[in-house]
Amino acid sequence: MTVYEAASAHAKRMLAALVVSILFVLVIDRFFGHSTIAFAIAIIGLVAANRPMLRLNCPTCGKNLFFRGMFVVPWPNKVCGKCGTDLAAQSN
Ligand SMILES: [Zn+2]
Repeated sequence: MTVYEAASAHAKRMLAALVVSILFVLVIDRFFGHSTIAFAIAIIGLVAANRPMLRLNCPTCGKNLFFRGMFVVPWPNKVCGKCGTDLAAQSN
């Protein structure tokens, strides 16, 4: 598996986690009223689920696939923005 494939899989997992989190907050809201705690749990869950993102770095220069300069985007770079390595190419 390439680092890009791993990053894409992670992006899909995060999308699923985001949907689950939103549904969780909506369901709690619907049945128990507005809950800051439910919201906090959802945020903590998302941050925890997103932790593997920090390991998805360019094998050449170590730049994170989800960073575009200063910005973090929800979809990984296919080509490293710093050194130009083709991250979708099979290397291992
Ligand atoms: Zn790079």
